[in-house]
Amino acid sequence: MSFKPIDYLPYDFANRRHIGPSPAEMDDMLKVVGANSLDALIDETVPQSIRLEQPLDFGKPKSERELLHHMRVTASKNEVLTSLIGQGYHGTVTPPAIQRNILENPAWYTAYTPYQPEISQGRLEALLNYQTMVSDLTGLEIANASLLDEATACAEAMTMAQRISKSKATAFFVDENCHPQNIAVIRTRAAPLGIEVIVGAPEALEAGRVFGALFQYPGTYGHLRDFTDEIAALHEAKAIGIISADPLSLTLLREPGAMGADIAVGSTQRFGVPLGYGGPHAAYMATRQQYARSMPGRIVGVSVDSHGNRAYRLSLQTREQHIRREKATSNVCTAQALLAVMASFYAVFHGPEGLRAIAQRIHRKTVRMAKGLEAAGFHVEPETYFDTITVDVGLLQRGVLQAAVREGLNLRRVDDSKVGITLDERTRPATIEAVWRAFGIIMKDEDFRPEYRLPEALERQSGYLEHPIFHMNRAETEMMRYMRRLADRDLALDRAMIPLGSCTMKLNSAAEMMPISWREFSQLHPFVPADQAAGYAEMIDDLSAKLCDITGYAAISMQPNSGAQGEYAGLLTIAAWHRANGEGGRNICLIPMSAHGTNPASANMVGWKVVPVKSAENGDIDLDDFREKAAKHADSLAGCMITYPSTHGVFEETVREVCEITHAHGGQVYIDGANMNAMVGLSRPGDLGGDVSHLNLHKTFCIPHGGGGPGMGPIGVKPHLVPHLPGHPVTGGTEGPVSAAPYGSPSLLPISWAYCLMMGGEGLTQATRVAILNANYIAERLEGAYDVLYRGAGGRVAHECIIDTRPFAESAGVTVDDIAKRLVDCGFHAPTMSWPVAGTLMIEPTESETKAELDRFCDAMLAIRDEIRDIEQGRIDRDNNPLKNAPHTMEDLVKDWDRPYSREQGCFPPGAFRVDKYWPPVNRVDNAWGDRHLVCTCPPMEDYAEAAE
Ligand SMILES: *Cc1c(COP(=O)(O)O)cnc(C)c1O
Repeated sequence: MSFKPIDYLPYDFANRRHIGPSPAEMDDMLKVVGANSLDALIDETVPQSIRLEQPLDFGKPKSERELLHHMRVTASKNEVLTSLIGQGYHGTVTPPAIQRNILENPAWYTAYTPYQPEISQGRLEALLNYQTMVSDLTGLEIANASLLDEATACAEAMTMAQRISKSKATAFFVDENCHPQNIAVIRTRAAPLGIEVIVGAPEALEAGRVFGALFQYPGTYGHLRDFTDEIAALHEAKAIGIISADPLSLTLLREPGAMGADIAVGSTQRFGVPLGYGGPHAAYMATRQQYARSMPGRIVGVSVDSHGNRAYRLSLQTREQHIRREKATSNVCTAQALLAVMASFYAVFHGPEGLRAIAQRIHRKTVRMAKGLEAAGFHVEPETYFDTITVDVGLLQRGVLQAAVREGLNLRRVDDSKVGITLDERTRPATIEAVWRAFGIIMKDEDFRPEYRLPEALERQSGYLEHPIFHMNRAETEMMRYMRRLADRDLALDRAMIPLGSCTMKLNSAAEMMPISWREFSQLHPFVPADQAAGYAEMIDDLSAKLCDITGYAAISMQPNSGAQGEYAGLLTIAAWHRANGEGGRNICLIPMSAHGTNPASANMVGWKVVPVKSAENGDIDLDDFREKAAKHADSLAGCMITYPSTHGVFEETVREVCEITHAHGGQVYIDGANMNAMVGLSRPGDLGGDVSHLNLHKTFCIPHGGGGPGMGPIGVKPHLVPHLPGHPVTGGTEGPVSAAPYGSPSLLPISWAYCLMMGGEGLTQATRVAILNANYIAERLEGAYDVLYRGAGGRVAHECIIDTRPFAESAGVTVDDIAKRLVDCGFHAPTMSWPVAGTLMIEPTESETKAELDRFCDAMLAIRDEIRDIEQGRIDRDNNPLKNAPHTMEDLVKDWDRPYSREQGCFPPGAFRVDKYWPPVNRVDNAWGDRHLVCTCPPMEDYAEAAE
């Protein structure tokens, strides 16, 4: 017998996994676009003058099995010891149901930031649970939905204190018992703002000299103290009191609110979020109601929909910091939504009693361990503590630390003679006995009676987590269904394309995601000795080398935890370079009006003055205006921030000229790399004249958005800036850190690394080319029905396109909002609304979407255009029509129907699936109502039934 070999492309061949359209579909699409070939389309789109000459070459791409094997080998080079280092990071047990149903569930991790509340009710509820948990534990009225890490939360609290305090002082006090990385990040943040940082013991605080003070609770060496008197003194001087608190300790200890604190911050990592060698973890911030409007980050609030039913949405959005551009005082955009969701479910799973029991157990174990050490003659500090003690071992220190490693433990080296030990939820009696052996003590854990050594005066008096959500039946069946119910309310990438301009919502493939759960990546403390993290080092080095090849830069810093944080780090790097050249006075930053709001916000944070540059008619930077402003500020020009391809989705031919002008006037060029999905393999920001760029690994490099974080915003720099990259107290460097951990959120890096390894240079380039094809296909299909606003010289758009919906306001009374909500009925997440141009939609399909999905989207958009025409031509009422009433719920479908269009048209417009129809759980959400009645914690249960006024 003989057989004919089949020409079969395995599914896990790079180009099939990540690239939506099949080769045959691409041919059809090229015909629609009117290009002879993909090469021809790219030539018409990407100007020759900026093209990369050498193709990217990363060797042979790996198959999924090869990749996972390679990951296993790399992971095995990380050594997982039990870390009792503390310092803000703790061992924790992630309940398997949370790991599987949230962390490893694309319904949760592929969701976008909940800017469209109607399709985000599930994660908004989970985040509201998180805020309620934080607010309860800290004893403060209002909490945000997460910040990047504890150290940046401390720094944010400092600048917030300066805004809200009525004191004229310019100094800020930091308790010397704060974790070293918190102090270091505060120093970084304070310097360019001219804030003097005073570090000292709490008793040394001179309240009259400062606008605010930060205390750590428990202190980094274990001390517990009541800050009521210090905070009263601060208030006397019109200054602000801030406490950075471990939320688990607050289940037993008096909460910051009860001590009078105005702001509380901290990390929720130990609520079930793995260590991950430093991140990602959700930091929290809570404050008093009166300061709500000054708080950075996003706040979920309760409002009503158009039928008066309860609905959640992001509150005070116009207040959202990065949207305020040069008036912004913080640049937080992407935060840590997925990790906040995990932490909130940890609290739902355990409830208040469970959390208290965990905290008590940890405390009792700590006491037993301390008693053993005391029995052997060691001096243990402090006298009262929660989970952390310090032992002065003098000359024995080296020996103790080494013996500990032999026992499989990492202890903290506090100074030259002291050792710190912090216990956690994972500590077992055997762990305690191993600690003792490291000190040369042979004893049995069971020989010591449990006892409490918490200061009586600090015992918590108030209740917390009293809301019924934290008291539901904890059978896993019930928990699983709750997580499923919430996930089902949301529209994430696992159901439909999310064509968000600039956000690059592409596939996060399963093989890329799997390694992040492995213990060799997830269970490492960020401050373990370097020789225990050799696998991480190898991965970080190799990924950095690849990113350097992709961008044309000399080195990468992995520290920034978001794109915006990358901008901030990059600008600090530029500022340090200017200072090193004796030009520290340079402080003018040219930024095009169309820039993302984080750009001017970041410039503000480094103390620069933003000078906006006009856009020309075609959306490009107005070169004359740019030249004029650069010349005018030549003596003080620090640099410019541009985005490439531009935020209008066009490869500007003048980019090199913009860079040259900036350099000629002594400035440095920051190229925002959020649009790298249009460049990888075709063009490099470093070659265009950029000095520094950030990459949004959660856009171009496949880290999922997680409903608003995590993210990674590493920066690449040219050789002259390398010495000025962020440093860290643990890993060294001349500059201060921008994040709590040396490599930001390294446990996410396997995702981006896997993407590069499985795609190879050619696959990455093909992804870029197809991203451009997909965008041009949409532009072509929608052209005529809608105006496509900006095109390059060759008549093409880059990887995204902007369509104009402004004419419909007048012709039909239809707004961009109406179209966005109508898209929900069609089963889509709306594109980016009103940015960079008000009244427009910016569509970015990415390479991951198939032709069928692109067609479904275009059919929906064309049908919406027909509905607009019906209004324009008077066939349907201007106020009562499918657009104004969108989105339609199942409730609408089954209720009495008295509308001038059919149920069919209302609920099943083109694009909507009949069987797998996505039903939004609420009608259109009323944002203004929620802002007028600000409620940012879970409303009482009885409210759930009650309709709003
Ligand atoms: C997304 C984005 C940013 C900010 O990135 P985050 O990770 O959200 O902080 C900055 N600039 C542009 C153009 C972006 O699209």
